[in-house]
Order: sequence, then structure tokens, then C-alpha cells
Amino acid sequence: MTPTTASSLTGTIEELRDRAVAEGRQLLLVAASLSNGPDIADVYGVRSLDDSTAEVVRRAQEHATVPCHLLRVSRLGGFLAAAVVDRDRSVSQLDLLVADMREMLEVRGERVWPIVTVAVRACHDDEDVWDAVRDARSTLVIAQRDTPGGTSWHHDSDEGLGSGLGLTLVRDLAVALTEQPDELHLAYQPVVDLRRGTTTGAEALLRWQHPTRGAVGPLVAVEAAERTGLIHPLGRLVLDRAVAQLAAWRGRVVPGFRMHVNVSPIELREASYADGMAAVLDRWDVPAPQLLLEITETALLADDPRVLRTITALHELGVGLGIDDFGTGYSSIRHLHRLPIDTVKVDRSLVSGIATSPADFALTRAVLGLLTTIGATVVAEGIEDAQQQAHLLAMGCTLGQGYHLGRPVTADALFAGSSWSRARATGMLGA
Ligand code: C2E
Ligand code: MG
Ligand code: MG
Repeated sequence: MTPTTASSLTGTIEELRDRAVAEGRQLLLVAASLSNGPDIADVYGVRSLDDSTAEVVRRAQEHATVPCHLLRVSRLGGFLAAAVVDRDRSVSQLDLLVADMREMLEVRGERVWPIVTVAVRACHDDEDVWDAVRDARSTLVIAQRDTPGGTSWHHDSDEGLGSGLGLTLVRDLAVALTEQPDELHLAYQPVVDLRRGTTTGAEALLRWQHPTRGAVGPLVAVEAAERTGLIHPLGRLVLDRAVAQLAAWRGRVVPGFRMHVNVSPIELREASYADGMAAVLDRWDVPAPQLLLEITETALLADDPRVLRTITALHELGVGLGIDDFGTGYSSIRHLHRLPIDTVKVDRSLVSGIATSPADFALTRAVLGLLTTIGATVVAEGIEDAQQQAHLLAMGCTLGQGYHLGRPVTADALFAGSSWSRARATGMLGA
């Protein structure tokens, strides 16, 4: 099996397409992969995987009614081929071809069922064939993830794997982290004692001021960082700045004040995370209990032994652990119970309706009751008006966060409005 080179690939596909057009037929690009290739290599060896791939390719090339032209073979059982089919029968002809590719294989005298994942892209008469190659490839990557062993046709309306925007966003985030750290900064939102109006903590929230795009939302930046490994340097930057800020606030905050820092579960998978945390606390001479790490997905946490090891080490270090956005789907009381969690932040969605909907009120009261039963400190998120605050207080919730109590602001601005003036503004004087 000799793969053609990249340069001959262009000519070959274009020639095939021109031939198809001249005959009034259609060129299909067929990207395929042996999804159980890694298993075949593990059990029977890499050469057996090559042989298996060659056999699937041979079936395509020598197909009785729809012969394929092999364009390229990649490692671990992937290949790209082209077939010329009749326009009005393209789907049925492709099905015939693929059915043969999916027949039982014989590998070292044993029968092996090939899981052949196929992506198909029909070439238009007047387009750049390389666009079709790109689409076939990205459709295959998505199919391998979502529908292994199936056949996926690319549609022109399909989203690609990632837009060019995603690529440049990642590059720009890497540039910000390595060369322009001033583009990244933290805003701080107060966590407030709902009875007294005092600021008992602050949540550090990432802000990214991109030189041309302007402000990029933290969820966009964090998602891009999680996809690319940049979450590790990003998390380190956030942690270092937040702990440095805690050190700078020494003497200005109430006893027991805690800095909340959001952390991605992916960061917690790193074996060295807890050691890195100890080093940061040491560098700024900040006691571990002043820090509260907010984590979102409890399900992921409880099931991953690497994460559990990190969480245990952080707990031993004395760092507080909190669950963020509780009530949004990923968190469950059962998982909470298995983890050394001391704080639960009840999501805004559970707070927004309590003053207007009796059903929401009842639900939130029940959730708060459960959380209190397991001994968690509860912080209500997203309090937007005085009524919501009053209802939460009546339900026994004493800590909250939200635009009504204070928006995310710069470190200097956090204490500029005193807790006394906040208390007056929110009608809590004398409480
Ligand atoms: P989160 O941790 O749940 O943070 C609360 C979000 O709700 C913040 O959005 C905050 O500005 C917003 N918020 C606060 N009070 C209210 C309110 O009363 N009403 C409404 N509508 N919204 C309110 P933000 O700053 O856009 O952050 C979004 C999310 O991005 C955060 O949600 C967190 O999951 C993530 N994030 C932010 N900074 C970091 C970070 O440094 N690391 C990681 N891993 N994630 C971060
Ligand atoms: Mg948070
Ligand atoms: Mg939250």
C-alpha cells in the first residue's frame, strides 16, 4: 500500500473531479478510520493493524461496482479515498462500498470485526477540492467521537471542527499568558453576610482585555484554555494574583475573610497541583484556610482518582473547597457527601425565581434544607434584589453574592464603599 504524496494528491483529486464532471457523475471523498485500530495494534501488533488497514483499503479499491482511488493513508488505520459515483445514486452506491469495507477481517488466524468509521463529502463541480478534503477530515474526527462505526455525510451547513476564530483565540491567549500578562486581570465580587452587610469574602473573576477584540468573557477564555492545556498556566496566573491580593489586603479584611478562586477540574488532575498551591501560599505568606477553591462539576471530581488525590492533598493543606453553581445539573448531594467540601454555592437559577414563583421558592427552600443537613456552608449566588435577599435570609441562608450586593470590581474598589454604606444601601442597617 503506497500512499500518494501531498503534491500528487492535489493533481489526483482534481483530475478525478474533472473526469467525474465530464462524465456527468460526482466525486465523493471518503475519509475512513478503523476505530478499533488501537485495540488491534495492542492485541495483535502494529503490523497486524497495517495489514488490517490494507485489507479494508483493498476492498475499497477493488470494489466491483464502486472502485475507490486511494489518496492517502495515515497512521493507526486512517485513510482517505475518492470514489466516482452516479449523481442520483450516490448514497446507495456509497453504502455498497462501505458495507464491503465492514466485512469480518481475519487477523493472525482470528476473526476480528472492523469498526470502520466513515465520513463522506461530495465534491461540488466548481469548488477548491482541498476544501472538500478539509471537510471530509473534520467530519471524520467528529464521527470518531460521536458515531464510531457509522457513516456520516458532510452537509454544507455543518460546523467545522473549530473556526479560524478558535485558532487565533488560543494563540492570543498563549501570547497573553507568556508575553502580555497585563491583558489578564482579576475582578473581585464581594461575598456578603446577608444579616450584617459585611464583606466576608471575595470571588476572583478572570478578565481578559484583548488588544483588538476588547473584553473576552471568562467562560470563552476558560473553555479555550481547557481545550488546549493553557488552563494550567492560566490557573497558575489567577491563583498567584488572587493570593498576592489576599496578602495585600492583610489587616483590611474581617477575620475569617476568604478569597474564592475558580478552578477547572482539569487543573486538579495534575499530580503537582497541590504542591504548586503550597508554594504560592508560602510565597505570599498566606494561611491556607483563607483560600476557597470553587469547583463546578462534582460528578467528574468524585469519579477521577487523580482529582480525588489532589482534593485530599488540598484538604490536608487546609485549603477550603467549594462547589460552584450547585443545582445546574452536574452536582448531586451524594457526590458532595463523598468529598471534603465545606461550602456550596447555590446557582443563580435557584435564586432568580424565589420572590415571584411559589414553586421556585419551595424548591430552593428544600435544597437549602438538604445542604444545611449535610453541614455545608451555603452561599446564594446571583442575588439581584432586596426581595430575593429577604427570602433567602428567611430560609436561613446567611451568605450571598450578586449584583444587588456588589458587582465584580477592581481590588481597590472592593473596599472603597464600606460595608456600612452597603448595609445602608441594602436596607440592612441595624440588622
Ligand atoms: P461563577 O464562578 O459562577 O461566577 C459568577 C458569575 O456570575 C460571574 O460571571 C459574575 O460576574 C456573575 N454574577 C455575579 N452576580 C450576578 C448577578 O446578580 N446576576 C447575574 N446575572 N450574574 C451575576 P463572570 O465573571 O462572567 O464569570 C463567569 C464564569 O467564568 C464564572 O462563573 C466561572 O465559572 C468562570 N470563571 C471566571 N473566572 C475564572 C477563573 O479564574 N478560572 C476558571 N476556571 N473559571 C473562571
Ligand atoms: Mg465561581
Ligand atoms: Mg457560580
